[in-house]
Amino acid sequence: MFDSVIIGSGPCGISAAIYLKRFGFNVLVIGKDYGTLSINTLIENYYGIESINGIDLIKKGINQAKNLGINVLTEEVVKIEMGNGFTVSTNKNVYACKTVLIATGMKRTTLKIEGLKDFEGRGVSYCAVCDGFLYRKKRIGILGTGEYMKSELEVLKRFSNDITVFTNGEDVDLDENVVCEKIIKIEGENHLESVVCENNTYDIDCLFVAVGVANGSSFARHLGILMDDKEHLIVDNYMTNIPGIFAGGDIIGGIKQIITAASDGCSCAYKIKDYLKEK
Ligand SMILES: Cc1cc2nc3c(=O)[nH]c(=O)nc-3n(C[C@H](O)[C@H](O)[C@H](O)COP(=O)(O)OP(=O)(O)OC[C@H]3O[C@@H](n4cnc5c(N)ncnc54)[C@H](O)[C@@H]3O)c2cc1C
Repeated sequence: MFDSVIIGSGPCGISAAIYLKRFGFNVLVIGKDYGTLSINTLIENYYGIESINGIDLIKKGINQAKNLGINVLTEEVVKIEMGNGFTVSTNKNVYACKTVLIATGMKRTTLKIEGLKDFEGRGVSYCAVCDGFLYRKKRIGILGTGEYMKSELEVLKRFSNDITVFTNGEDVDLDENVVCEKIIKIEGENHLESVVCENNTYDIDCLFVAVGVANGSSFARHLGILMDDKEHLIVDNYMTNIPGIFAGGDIIGGIKQIITAASDGCSCAYKIKDYLKEK
Protein backbone atom coordinates (compact mmCIF):
# COMPACT_ATOMS: atom_id res chain seq x y z
CA MET A 1 0.00 0.00 0.00
CA PHE A 2 1.35 3.44 -0.94
CA ASP A 3 1.55 6.12 1.75
CA SER A 4 0.27 8.54 -0.84
CA VAL A 5 -0.99 8.46 -4.40
CA ILE A 6 -0.73 11.82 -6.10
CA ILE A 7 -3.07 12.44 -9.01
CA GLY A 8 -1.37 14.93 -11.31
CA SER A 9 2.22 15.29 -12.46
CA GLY A 10 2.10 19.07 -12.82
CA PRO A 11 3.94 21.59 -10.61
CA CYS A 12 1.77 20.80 -7.55
CA GLY A 13 1.83 17.00 -7.78
CA ILE A 14 5.55 16.72 -8.55
CA SER A 15 6.56 19.21 -5.84
CA ALA A 16 4.51 17.29 -3.28
CA ALA A 17 6.09 14.01 -4.40
CA ILE A 18 9.62 15.38 -4.06
CA TYR A 19 8.99 16.52 -0.48
CA LEU A 20 7.16 13.32 0.50
CA LYS A 21 9.96 11.21 -0.91
CA ARG A 22 12.50 13.23 1.07
CA PHE A 23 10.38 12.66 4.19
CA GLY A 24 10.80 8.93 3.51
CA PHE A 25 7.31 8.07 2.31
CA ASN A 26 6.34 5.58 -0.34
CA VAL A 27 4.67 7.74 -2.98
CA LEU A 28 3.23 7.20 -6.44
CA VAL A 29 2.48 9.96 -8.97
CA ILE A 30 -0.06 9.38 -11.73
CA GLY A 31 -0.39 11.95 -14.51
CA LYS A 32 -2.38 11.63 -17.67
CA ASP A 33 -0.46 14.19 -19.73
CA TYR A 34 1.45 17.47 -19.31
CA GLY A 35 -1.64 19.23 -17.92
CA THR A 36 -2.29 22.94 -18.25
CA LEU A 37 1.24 23.59 -19.48
CA SER A 38 0.87 21.23 -22.42
CA ILE A 39 -0.36 24.35 -24.18
CA ASN A 40 2.78 25.54 -25.93
CA THR A 41 3.52 28.64 -23.91
CA LEU A 42 6.62 30.51 -22.79
CA ILE A 43 7.13 30.82 -19.05
CA GLU A 44 9.09 33.91 -18.06
CA ASN A 45 7.94 34.55 -14.49
CA TYR A 46 9.15 31.47 -12.60
CA TYR A 47 11.83 32.04 -10.01
CA GLY A 48 15.37 31.48 -11.29
CA ILE A 49 14.36 30.64 -14.86
CA GLU A 50 14.44 33.51 -17.33
CA SER A 51 12.52 31.79 -20.10
CA ILE A 52 11.36 28.24 -20.73
CA ASN A 53 8.74 26.48 -22.76
CA GLY A 54 5.92 25.15 -20.52
CA ILE A 55 6.26 21.57 -21.71
CA ASP A 56 10.04 21.63 -21.14
CA LEU A 57 9.47 22.86 -17.57
CA ILE A 58 6.99 20.07 -16.87
CA LYS A 59 9.32 17.46 -18.37
CA LYS A 60 12.16 18.75 -16.18
CA GLY A 61 9.96 18.42 -13.10
CA ILE A 62 8.94 14.85 -13.96
CA ASN A 63 12.56 13.86 -14.69
CA GLN A 64 13.69 15.43 -11.43
CA ALA A 65 11.14 13.30 -9.55
CA LYS A 66 12.10 10.13 -11.44
CA ASN A 67 15.80 10.75 -10.75
CA LEU A 68 14.95 10.85 -7.05
CA GLY A 69 13.44 7.37 -7.40
CA ILE A 70 9.80 8.46 -7.49
CA ASN A 71 7.47 6.32 -9.56
CA VAL A 72 5.68 8.61 -12.06
CA LEU A 73 3.16 6.76 -14.21
CA THR A 74 1.40 7.98 -17.35
CA GLU A 75 -2.10 6.68 -16.71
CA GLU A 76 -5.59 8.16 -16.53
CA VAL A 77 -7.30 8.04 -13.15
CA VAL A 78 -10.99 7.23 -13.51
CA LYS A 79 -12.05 6.64 -9.93
CA ILE A 80 -11.11 7.09 -6.27
CA GLU A 81 -12.86 4.87 -3.73
CA MET A 82 -12.85 4.80 0.05
CA GLY A 83 -12.49 1.61 2.04
CA ASN A 84 -9.51 0.42 4.00
CA GLY A 85 -7.67 3.63 3.09
CA PHE A 86 -8.30 4.48 -0.56
CA THR A 87 -8.10 2.82 -3.95
CA VAL A 88 -7.22 4.81 -7.04
CA SER A 89 -8.30 3.16 -10.29
CA THR A 90 -6.73 4.06 -13.61
CA ASN A 91 -7.33 2.84 -17.15
CA LYS A 92 -4.64 0.23 -16.43
CA ASN A 93 -4.51 -0.65 -12.74
CA VAL A 94 -5.78 -0.18 -9.19
CA TYR A 95 -3.55 1.28 -6.46
CA ALA A 96 -4.21 1.13 -2.73
CA CYS A 97 -3.02 3.99 -0.55
CA LYS A 98 -3.36 5.67 2.83
CA THR A 99 -3.73 9.20 1.46
CA VAL A 100 -4.60 10.80 -1.88
CA LEU A 101 -3.49 14.17 -3.18
CA ILE A 102 -5.69 15.62 -5.92
CA ALA A 103 -3.49 17.91 -8.03
CA THR A 104 -5.35 17.65 -11.31
CA GLY A 105 -5.34 21.33 -12.28
CA MET A 106 -8.52 22.92 -13.57
CA LYS A 107 -8.47 21.89 -17.23
CA ARG A 108 -11.99 20.83 -18.04
CA THR A 109 -14.10 19.96 -20.97
CA THR A 110 -16.89 22.44 -21.55
CA LEU A 111 -19.90 21.34 -23.53
CA LYS A 112 -22.20 23.70 -25.31
CA ILE A 113 -25.39 21.74 -25.82
CA GLU A 114 -28.69 23.59 -25.64
CA GLY A 115 -30.67 22.56 -22.58
CA LEU A 116 -27.87 20.66 -20.83
CA LYS A 117 -27.40 23.21 -18.07
CA ASP A 118 -31.17 23.78 -17.71
CA PHE A 119 -31.78 20.12 -16.84
CA GLU A 120 -28.94 19.73 -14.32
CA GLY A 121 -30.51 18.04 -11.30
CA ARG A 122 -33.64 17.33 -13.39
CA GLY A 123 -32.33 14.43 -15.43
CA VAL A 124 -28.81 15.62 -16.26
CA SER A 125 -26.23 14.27 -13.82
CA TYR A 126 -22.45 14.30 -13.58
CA CYS A 127 -22.09 11.44 -11.10
CA ALA A 128 -23.22 7.84 -11.68
CA VAL A 129 -22.45 6.73 -8.12
CA CYS A 130 -24.43 9.65 -6.67
CA ASP A 131 -27.52 9.58 -8.90
CA GLY A 132 -27.58 6.23 -10.72
CA PHE A 133 -29.98 4.67 -8.20
CA LEU A 134 -32.59 7.33 -9.07
CA TYR A 135 -32.93 5.73 -12.50
CA ARG A 136 -33.20 2.06 -11.60
CA LYS A 137 -34.74 0.18 -14.54
CA LYS A 138 -35.19 3.47 -16.45
CA ARG A 139 -33.90 4.55 -19.85
CA ILE A 140 -30.42 5.85 -19.10
CA GLY A 141 -28.33 7.93 -21.48
CA ILE A 142 -24.64 8.52 -20.98
CA LEU A 143 -22.61 11.10 -22.86
CA GLY A 144 -18.89 10.56 -23.48
CA THR A 145 -16.35 8.40 -25.29
CA GLY A 146 -13.26 7.75 -23.17
CA GLU A 147 -12.12 5.77 -20.14
CA TYR A 148 -14.05 8.01 -17.79
CA MET A 149 -17.29 7.34 -19.65
CA LYS A 150 -16.59 3.58 -19.56
CA SER A 151 -16.03 3.67 -15.81
CA GLU A 152 -19.32 5.57 -15.28
CA LEU A 153 -21.07 3.15 -17.63
CA GLU A 154 -19.98 0.19 -15.47
CA VAL A 155 -21.65 1.84 -12.48
CA LEU A 156 -24.86 2.57 -14.41
CA LYS A 157 -25.16 -1.03 -15.61
CA ARG A 158 -25.94 -1.96 -12.00
CA PHE A 159 -29.15 0.08 -12.25
CA SER A 160 -30.52 -0.56 -15.72
CA ASN A 161 -29.97 -2.59 -18.83
CA ASP A 162 -31.56 0.07 -21.01
CA ILE A 163 -28.52 2.26 -21.59
CA THR A 164 -27.67 4.38 -24.64
CA VAL A 165 -24.22 5.87 -25.10
CA PHE A 166 -24.25 9.24 -26.87
CA THR A 167 -20.90 10.15 -28.41
CA ASN A 168 -21.87 13.52 -29.88
CA GLY A 169 -20.42 12.73 -33.28
CA GLU A 170 -17.44 10.53 -32.37
CA ASP A 171 -16.99 6.86 -33.16
CA VAL A 172 -16.56 4.39 -30.30
CA ASP A 173 -16.34 0.64 -30.27
CA LEU A 174 -18.72 -0.63 -27.56
CA ASP A 175 -21.16 -3.48 -27.06
CA GLU A 176 -23.78 -1.04 -25.80
CA ASN A 177 -26.43 0.77 -27.81
CA VAL A 178 -24.41 3.69 -29.26
CA VAL A 179 -25.67 6.87 -30.93
CA CYS A 180 -22.87 8.57 -32.86
CA GLU A 181 -24.95 11.49 -34.12
CA LYS A 182 -24.21 15.08 -33.06
CA ILE A 183 -26.51 16.26 -30.29
CA ILE A 184 -28.56 19.35 -31.10
CA LYS A 185 -30.40 19.88 -27.80
CA ILE A 186 -31.83 18.34 -24.65
CA GLU A 187 -35.60 18.61 -24.26
CA GLY A 188 -38.32 18.07 -21.66
CA GLU A 189 -41.03 19.75 -19.63
CA ASN A 190 -40.07 19.80 -15.96
CA HIS A 191 -37.63 16.92 -16.32
CA LEU A 192 -35.39 15.76 -19.16
CA GLU A 193 -37.36 13.67 -21.65
CA SER A 194 -35.35 13.40 -24.84
CA VAL A 195 -32.06 14.00 -26.61
CA VAL A 196 -32.53 15.61 -30.00
CA CYS A 197 -29.78 14.58 -32.44
CA GLU A 198 -29.07 15.51 -36.05
CA ASN A 199 -31.34 12.83 -37.53
CA ASN A 200 -33.39 11.37 -34.68
CA THR A 201 -34.82 12.15 -31.28
CA TYR A 202 -34.16 9.65 -28.49
CA ASP A 203 -36.50 9.42 -25.49
CA ILE A 204 -34.61 8.81 -22.25
CA ASP A 205 -35.16 9.47 -18.54
CA CYS A 206 -31.75 10.83 -17.69
CA LEU A 207 -28.40 11.75 -19.18
CA PHE A 208 -25.13 11.17 -17.34
CA VAL A 209 -22.34 13.40 -18.60
CA ALA A 210 -18.89 11.79 -18.56
CA VAL A 211 -17.09 13.67 -21.28
CA GLY A 212 -13.30 13.81 -21.52
CA VAL A 213 -11.22 12.90 -18.51
CA ALA A 214 -12.30 12.66 -14.88
CA ASN A 215 -11.02 15.75 -13.11
CA GLY A 216 -10.91 17.08 -9.58
CA SER A 217 -14.57 18.03 -9.57
CA SER A 218 -15.65 14.59 -10.86
CA PHE A 219 -13.72 12.93 -8.03
CA ALA A 220 -15.24 15.43 -5.60
CA ARG A 221 -18.78 14.64 -6.72
CA HIS A 222 -18.23 10.91 -6.32
CA LEU A 223 -16.68 11.21 -2.88
CA GLY A 224 -18.75 14.07 -1.46
CA ILE A 225 -15.83 16.51 -1.32
CA LEU A 226 -17.05 20.06 -0.84
CA MET A 227 -16.58 22.50 -3.73
CA ASP A 228 -17.22 26.18 -4.25
CA ASP A 229 -19.45 27.56 -7.00
CA LYS A 230 -16.53 27.49 -9.47
CA GLU A 231 -15.87 23.82 -8.69
CA HIS A 232 -12.66 24.47 -6.77
CA LEU A 233 -12.18 21.89 -4.02
CA ILE A 234 -12.58 23.40 -0.57
CA VAL A 235 -9.68 22.56 1.74
CA ASP A 236 -8.71 23.28 5.30
CA ASN A 237 -4.92 23.27 5.57
CA TYR A 238 -4.88 21.43 2.23
CA MET A 239 -7.10 18.60 3.47
CA THR A 240 -10.60 18.25 2.01
CA ASN A 241 -13.58 17.37 4.19
CA ILE A 242 -12.68 13.70 3.60
CA PRO A 243 -9.87 12.84 6.03
CA GLY A 244 -6.88 11.56 4.07
CA ILE A 245 -7.78 13.29 0.82
CA PHE A 246 -5.74 16.41 0.16
CA ALA A 247 -5.81 18.90 -2.73
CA GLY A 248 -3.56 21.65 -4.05
CA GLY A 249 -2.66 23.74 -7.09
CA ASP A 250 -5.19 25.20 -9.54
CA ILE A 251 -7.93 22.81 -8.37
CA ILE A 252 -8.24 24.69 -5.07
CA GLY A 253 -8.44 28.10 -6.78
CA GLY A 254 -6.42 31.14 -5.75
CA ILE A 255 -3.74 32.76 -7.91
CA LYS A 256 -3.30 29.81 -10.30
CA GLN A 257 0.34 30.18 -11.22
CA ILE A 258 3.18 27.67 -11.40
CA ILE A 259 4.88 29.11 -8.37
CA THR A 260 1.74 28.89 -6.23
CA ALA A 261 1.02 25.34 -7.45
CA ALA A 262 4.57 24.29 -6.53
CA SER A 263 4.19 26.01 -3.17
CA ASP A 264 0.88 24.19 -2.56
CA GLY A 265 2.65 20.92 -3.40
CA CYS A 266 5.24 21.56 -0.69
CA SER A 267 2.55 22.53 1.85
CA CYS A 268 0.44 19.48 0.94
CA ALA A 269 3.46 17.24 1.58
CA TYR A 270 3.91 18.68 5.07
CA LYS A 271 0.20 18.20 5.85
CA ILE A 272 0.23 14.65 4.51
CA LYS A 273 3.33 13.89 6.58
CA ASP A 274 1.59 15.16 9.75
CA TYR A 275 -1.55 13.16 8.92
CA LEU A 276 0.39 9.93 8.29
CA LYS A 277 2.41 10.37 11.48
CA GLU A 278 -0.77 10.77 13.54
CA LYS A 279 -2.23 7.56 12.08
C1 LIG B 1 -2.16 29.23 -21.60
C2 LIG B 1 -1.63 29.26 -20.20
C3 LIG B 1 -0.45 29.92 -19.95
C4 LIG B 1 0.05 29.96 -18.64
N1 LIG B 1 1.21 30.65 -18.41
C5 LIG B 1 1.72 30.71 -17.17
C6 LIG B 1 2.93 31.43 -16.92
O1 LIG B 1 3.52 32.03 -17.82
N2 LIG B 1 3.40 31.42 -15.65
C7 LIG B 1 2.75 30.79 -14.60
O2 LIG B 1 3.24 30.81 -13.48
N3 LIG B 1 1.60 30.11 -14.83
C8 LIG B 1 1.06 30.06 -16.08
N4 LIG B 1 -0.12 29.38 -16.29
C9 LIG B 1 -0.80 28.71 -15.15
C10 LIG B 1 -0.13 27.39 -14.78
O3 LIG B 1 0.00 26.61 -15.96
C11 LIG B 1 -0.94 26.64 -13.73
O4 LIG B 1 -1.22 27.51 -12.65
C12 LIG B 1 -0.20 25.41 -13.20
O5 LIG B 1 0.19 24.57 -14.26
C13 LIG B 1 -1.09 24.62 -12.22
O6 LIG B 1 -0.41 23.50 -11.77
P1 LIG B 1 -1.20 22.22 -11.20
O7 LIG B 1 -0.13 21.27 -10.77
O8 LIG B 1 -2.21 22.65 -10.24
O9 LIG B 1 -2.01 21.64 -12.46
P2 LIG B 1 -1.57 21.25 -13.94
O10 LIG B 1 -0.26 21.87 -14.31
O11 LIG B 1 -2.72 21.53 -14.80
O12 LIG B 1 -1.34 19.68 -13.86
C14 LIG B 1 -2.44 18.84 -13.72
C15 LIG B 1 -1.97 17.40 -13.77
O13 LIG B 1 -3.08 16.55 -13.48
C16 LIG B 1 -3.14 15.50 -14.44
N5 LIG B 1 -4.50 14.98 -14.50
C17 LIG B 1 -5.68 15.63 -14.61
N6 LIG B 1 -6.70 14.76 -14.61
C18 LIG B 1 -6.16 13.53 -14.50
C19 LIG B 1 -6.68 12.20 -14.45
N7 LIG B 1 -8.00 11.95 -14.48
N8 LIG B 1 -5.81 11.17 -14.34
C20 LIG B 1 -4.48 11.38 -14.28
N9 LIG B 1 -3.93 12.60 -14.32
C21 LIG B 1 -4.76 13.66 -14.42
C22 LIG B 1 -2.64 16.14 -15.71
O14 LIG B 1 -2.25 15.15 -16.63
C23 LIG B 1 -1.46 16.95 -15.15
O15 LIG B 1 -0.36 16.09 -14.96
C24 LIG B 1 -0.63 29.32 -17.60
C25 LIG B 1 -1.82 28.63 -17.86
C26 LIG B 1 -2.32 28.61 -19.15
C27 LIG B 1 -3.60 27.87 -19.42
